[in-house]
Amino acid sequence: MVARVAYSQNVGKRPTKKAEGRGELDLLRAIRSRAARGAGVRDIRLGIGDDCALLRPRAGEELAVTTDLSIAGRHFRLEWHPPEVVGWRTLARGLSDLAAMGARPVAAFLSLGIPPDLTERPDSDRRGSGRHGSKGSWLDRFLQGLFDLAERYRVPLAGGDLAEAPVALADIVLIGAVPRGKALLRSGARPGDLVYVTGALGGAAAGLKMLAELAGPECTGPMPDERQDALSAQLRPKPRIQAGLSLRRRGLATAAIDISDGLSTDLAHLCEESGVSATIQADRLPITAKASLDQALHGGEDYELLFTARPDTRVPRSIAGVAVTQIGEIRATEHGKPALMIANGDIVEPLEARGWEHFSAKPGVLPRG
Ligand SMILES: [Mg+2]
Repeated sequence: MVARVAYSQNVGKRPTKKAEGRGELDLLRAIRSRAARGAGVRDIRLGIGDDCALLRPRAGEELAVTTDLSIAGRHFRLEWHPPEVVGWRTLARGLSDLAAMGARPVAAFLSLGIPPDLTERPDSDRRGSGRHGSKGSWLDRFLQGLFDLAERYRVPLAGGDLAEAPVALADIVLIGAVPRGKALLRSGARPGDLVYVTGALGGAAAGLKMLAELAGPECTGPMPDERQDALSAQLRPKPRIQAGLSLRRRGLATAAIDISDGLSTDLAHLCEESGVSATIQADRLPITAKASLDQALHGGEDYELLFTARPDTRVPRSIAGVAVTQIGEIRATEHGKPALMIANGDIVEPLEARGWEHFSAKPGVLPRG
């Protein structure tokens, strides 16, 4: 994995492209200055300011690296998601992958493709009339959301790249650290293990449906705080970093994955990697109020952790302040093929993996990834 640190490469050079209204150089300086104010730099020997960042893992650790692409129209909608929310969610997706491995966040790298008009400050800012409501350009607000979450989880931005693009897209690379050989893997589940999830399911999908219903001119401006609260599972998911660290440190989990594509699809991934089958109990699922069983099973973007533990392991009811619910059991495969089942009372039927999958023709209001 090679992460370019082109912010630094470009500073001090004449920009080759100039966005209307604000130059690339100005944008890079703003990002670098904002990153320098960030917290949690102890694992970084050198951040933005040279050709590469230098990371210094602690003795006995190995690095966990994940990358996630967010594209306008595929992973978010400019007319539905406020820019701060797009920034928050971009980082949340990467942090959630670190959580699933039980990794401690070390550094983030962000590559952005941005249409020039998204770097321009709105007229109200330029006139000064929007002093109190002034929040800057789409890019300024995107970065605000990303840094809000970065500071909460003490993960510094250590580099990235910036370019003009026909659509907005953000690629986030997260580096984490785990003690050697101790990362939580998808491949450790064995027959007889119990299946658990953190938090509640279906909130992100229910929130997305509400966003779609609200879509319109009113969604183009800053979203009122009370509406953001109601939609928080969709707008500001909280990656379960502490829960993942706790699971790993206490040796509770045999396998883990984060629920980004939907419980059914992510459980299928875990079963595939472990070479096992699973049965879920429908009446045990912790479904968010206002969400449906379908949204809890297949909705995705909940960024909760799905993990397995040996049946004799005492798994607490909450980990790092997050509820933990046992929702099913791992079984041996029949004929070597992993299968998912869902039990509803006496009825046990196959559970189809119907979460999001790119390059498939599956229906969905907004594709996820
Ligand atoms: Mg993941």
